[in-house]
Amino acid sequence: ARSVHQIQSGQVIVDLCSVVKELVENSLDASATSIEIRFKNHGLDSIEVQDNGTGISAENYENVALKHFTSKLSNYDDLSSLQTFGFRGEALSSLCALSKFSVTTAQAQEAPKGKRLDFDGMGRLSSTTLVACQRGTTATVEGLFESLPVRRKELTKNIKREYGKVLGLLHAYACICVNVKFTVKHAVTKGKSTIVFSTKANDSTRENIANVYGAKTLSALMPLDLTLDFESNMPRMAHNDTSSGKLLVKGHISKPVFGEGRQTPDRQMFFVNGRPCGLPQIAKAINEVYKSFNVSQSPFIFADFQMDTNAYDVNVSPDKRTILLHDAAILIENLKTAL
Ligand code: ADP
Ligand code: MG
Repeated sequence: ARSVHQIQSGQVIVDLCSVVKELVENSLDASATSIEIRFKNHGLDSIEVQDNGTGISAENYENVALKHFTSKLSNYDDLSSLQTFGFRGEALSSLCALSKFSVTTAQAQEAPKGKRLDFDGMGRLSSTTLVACQRGTTATVEGLFESLPVRRKELTKNIKREYGKVLGLLHAYACICVNVKFTVKHAVTKGKSTIVFSTKANDSTRENIANVYGAKTLSALMPLDLTLDFESNMPRMAHNDTSSGKLLVKGHISKPVFGEGRQTPDRQMFFVNGRPCGLPQIAKAINEVYKSFNVSQSPFIFADFQMDTNAYDVNVSPDKRTILLHDAAILIENLKTAL
């Protein structure tokens, strides 16, 4: 049972990015307004995510890391109107199978005391210790993938690249999440930690971008604010009668600058309803538009595609990073025209 659980867990947590994504999304789901992510040795030694969210209630200590435990979904109909990132109850259980995993947590009424919870490889609670703890939750992942030696070796070999990808993902969360302060820290194995980047709890994505990429980058951007109306030409899907047929594209994009010289970093971030995700076809389409105007560099793009939840499918892969847009081709044509 244990090795089957490890293999299944390895499909939920595929790399360093999955770990950080799951833990940060849990913090956001817990209504955190401040999230600190700490890496030791680029995450090889440990990854820690601390938040000031609701904390875990004592009645859930036994269950939180068991497979399929979730406190987030009360009935199956909720799936279509899901407001939280999580609902599968697989992340913590998978992390238990793939690392030494522990949590310290306190709800408002308990702070400044809380509990440290240790779990075994099957996600069963193995000890509960009284500790000093501010309101919120800190999840600690040590020795990621040590239970899967081939995966550990691979991670070790590619750690610099993996860590770079993780920072890119954290930039994306830090830019899209308004009113949440992000702090990212790194330390070498026995060294002191240094701040990699941080944001304030800004109430706009503009200010977030200025915190992450600098005021100079911000000044080279213009707002991206498109409404694509599919009412007339988007074929209705059978299950889709509640759809408004409208799609909003909100964000920021490089002002077209003609000629030489790089004004903005080469960064393209896409979101669907605020969830970071890769949308390579859409990236390609936007780059083509900029190229067709003879703009010398590919633009900085920060674009959130806001649409009805039944216009896409986040559930195609357990790690939820792949998003299938229905009617992507029509969307792309509309987007090109609008740009
Ligand atoms: P899911 O997010 O799909 O519910 P997880 O395995 O990620 O599943 O988490 C299991 C449960 O643990 C959550 O439903 C929640 O009750 C609790 N939990 C995890 N992380 C946090 C956190 N940072 N703050 C509060 N509760 C948390
Ligand atoms: Mg989760």
